[in-house]
Amino acid sequence: MKSLLRNIRVFVVLFAVLFALVIAGVIAQSSRARTTWLEAAGEDKAALRSRYRSAGEIISADGVVLAGRDKRGNRRYADDDVLAEAALHLVGDYTHNITNTLESLWQDHLLGSGRPFLTQMKLDFAGQGLEGDDLLLTVHSDLMVASARALKGKRGAVAIMNYKTGEVYALVSKPSVAPKNVIAWKDIPDTALFNRALLGRYVPGSTFKIVTATAFLNQGEYPYDMTVDCRGKEALMPGGVFERYMKKTHGKLAIERAFATSCNHYFGYIGLLLGPDSLERAANELAFNTELTLDRLKITPSVCDIGHEDNAAITWAAIGQPGGQDRESVTPLHLAMIASAIGNGGVMRQPYVVEATRTPMGDVKPLAHNDNVATLDRNVTDKLSEMMRAVVTDGTGTKAYVKGLDIRGKTGTANVMDEEGNMTTNNLFTGFIADESMPYAIGVVLEDAVSGTAAAVAGKLLKLTASKVR
Ligand SMILES: [Zn+2]
Repeated sequence: MKSLLRNIRVFVVLFAVLFALVIAGVIAQSSRARTTWLEAAGEDKAALRSRYRSAGEIISADGVVLAGRDKRGNRRYADDDVLAEAALHLVGDYTHNITNTLESLWQDHLLGSGRPFLTQMKLDFAGQGLEGDDLLLTVHSDLMVASARALKGKRGAVAIMNYKTGEVYALVSKPSVAPKNVIAWKDIPDTALFNRALLGRYVPGSTFKIVTATAFLNQGEYPYDMTVDCRGKEALMPGGVFERYMKKTHGKLAIERAFATSCNHYFGYIGLLLGPDSLERAANELAFNTELTLDRLKITPSVCDIGHEDNAAITWAAIGQPGGQDRESVTPLHLAMIASAIGNGGVMRQPYVVEATRTPMGDVKPLAHNDNVATLDRNVTDKLSEMMRAVVTDGTGTKAYVKGLDIRGKTGTANVMDEEGNMTTNNLFTGFIADESMPYAIGVVLEDAVSGTAAAVAGKLLKLTASKVR
């Protein structure tokens, strides 16, 4: 009887303790819900600052803290100034002055407000209920820094990814600014908050010849070795394409040589033969006109929309320099994805940047990343891959050449109007390393830059990627 009474007493005490813990958990969660409500009702900055005091960290693949806490518990960003600026557009700021970012779109994890009830209760019991989850990223801090340095003083963007897995190793947009300036909302250079890597709508220039070549390789009517006679500065047809950047002509050439030398006559000519519909179909195969995402982050869809009205206009659209009503644009990350599809035997992997979340108790929860964005005919991408090799060994992209690495790619130069209405040229490169043990792809865009600069940046960064990532 005595022992029964004692058992009941122990049970009552245990029950009381459990009840108190549950109540504590409920109070903690309702305070969290209130903060979430405050955020929704105008993103109260003071509430956010106090809430992010217990937010989870954002950590690079090589273990560098990109967002964490200082000694007083306040939210702080990477110690290294170059890294903090390089990661700004991806990581974001706790005041959510930039919105398409991890800080903003993963706040349910970072603040721990989106947990299942039981998980939250378990953490409350452990005394860690107020802390948020960490985000473990795929980006490498040294590749972020190297990309930022390569873009120093310029406007543009770099995206580096693994074409077998979809892991994004670097995603950098310039100009940028220190996160503390964004939070204080002062001394922010013009367009520094705009994430060019994900949102920039760039005229593709000759990188679009990958699309036109795909359309040509898709069909069976015109032979592979069909030749076109390049006429240099003389236009292909009245108002049509010509060679803007060379004095002589390319002579008579078939697709392989035309691709390596980026011959406008050849690609304008086959673009007209194939027609806008087959160019758009090839573009769609390469994920133009498609909603793209990077985990929860939005990517501006790349566009290919070519009218039928004017043959001369079609020749311009076929070389990635659309005029009139025609629209063609590409984002730097999508450029890396295009090279990825070709490097990966036709399979375009879904890019991602959040590898896993980690609870305050240290449980790592990997996220599923098995999706493909697109699948192309391997015969076609193998031919494209060969053509892209010749670009780097013996064509317009020799600046991307690195001894000992089989780098392949395509260059682009696009004539665009700047904000003041002056003509300027953007320089682009999309490429990859053709090596199973180094499956890395890159997209580079440099605004107002001379020919060859994007290829040089790509070669340098792919070389570094090959040495840093195992
Ligand atoms: Zn030519």
